[in-house]
Amino acid sequence: MGRIYNFSAGPAMLPVEVLTEAAEEMLDYKGSGMSVMEMSHRSKTYAGIIQEAEKDLRELMNIPDNYKVLFLQGGASQQFAAVPMNLMKNKVADYIITGQWAKKAYQEASIYGKANAIASSADKTFTYIPDCSDLPISDDADYVYICENNTIYGTKYKTLPNTKGKTLVADISSCFLSEPVDVTKYGILYGGVQKNVGPAGVVIAIIREDLITEDTLPGTPTMLKYKTQADNGSLYNTPPAYGIYICGKVFKWIKNMGGLEAMKEKNEIKAKLLYDFLDQSKLFKGTVVKEDRSLMNVPFVTGNEELDAKFVKEAKAAGLDSLKGHRTVGGMRASIYNAMPYDGVKTLVDFMRKFEAENL
Ligand SMILES: *Cc1c(COP(=O)(O)O)cnc(C)c1O
Repeated sequence: MGRIYNFSAGPAMLPVEVLTEAAEEMLDYKGSGMSVMEMSHRSKTYAGIIQEAEKDLRELMNIPDNYKVLFLQGGASQQFAAVPMNLMKNKVADYIITGQWAKKAYQEASIYGKANAIASSADKTFTYIPDCSDLPISDDADYVYICENNTIYGTKYKTLPNTKGKTLVADISSCFLSEPVDVTKYGILYGGVQKNVGPAGVVIAIIREDLITEDTLPGTPTMLKYKTQADNGSLYNTPPAYGIYICGKVFKWIKNMGGLEAMKEKNEIKAKLLYDFLDQSKLFKGTVVKEDRSLMNVPFVTGNEELDAKFVKEAKAAGLDSLKGHRTVGGMRASIYNAMPYDGVKTLVDFMRKFEAENL
């Protein structure tokens, strides 16, 4: 059995080079006589692994010195609570609702203070990004929150919102390391790594230092205080050690490829192949307005549920896995993250062309 093309939204494909290297080091990591899975997180060897991972990430994303990089647990979903707990000094925050993940974050923040939904694309099933050039930002908002790439609906912000001077917080789970990013525009960027960076179980948060304070909401658990994690170099307790090690390998893989500029170029070529096909197809149709299309998640439909189901089934039999759309959207979704090779997308498009000829 060879490897198949896995279009899952997450956990998703990892680079073969990374998996191969991890396999080679499985029983004996660099002469330590043990696997990284078995290693103390307080050991010198592990310190080397986590420090190098951070260094490589800082290089890749050009992270300024006044930002901390934290390796956390609890999934992106736990940050929905950690963000308000750490940042809501005035107990007010503005949320832009562009899909289910933004909505969940908004609902979670509402537990801790006044969360305002200042814009939404719910009126058209989240198929676009609202105009964010002049939003009614609250005077006393502690931050403005976005989900930068909407994994389920396949939209992405092409310009960041005008926050009128307020701190921007972004969930970048599904666009992490897919293209260059100007970290200085954000107060916090965070993401679960299982979409584009590594195995499930690690969340990376990049946080401007002035936002890391003792002044958190009453009742904030020690573990959820950014200060606890920052003061301890992400080693307050046992971190997701093996996951961080794999993330480190993915950082090296991207560096070897030429960094985020090169990654973006590859991702654009892959996405264009699929979108160009969708734009001329008589059977398949992309669901998102062109200007806001994601490079990572590409939802599409035939307009006929039975035909959608037939497509997903036949694609799977042809080695094109996990193309079923999110349960709330239906249709299909191809997630084409960094590790999806060009040939994977090419094979998908060829298969779609054949399916179209047979079923139109
Ligand atoms: C997958 C995803 C989440 C949820 O991540 P968990 O790690 O499962 O909590 C949140 N936000 C976005 C944008 C996602 O794609």
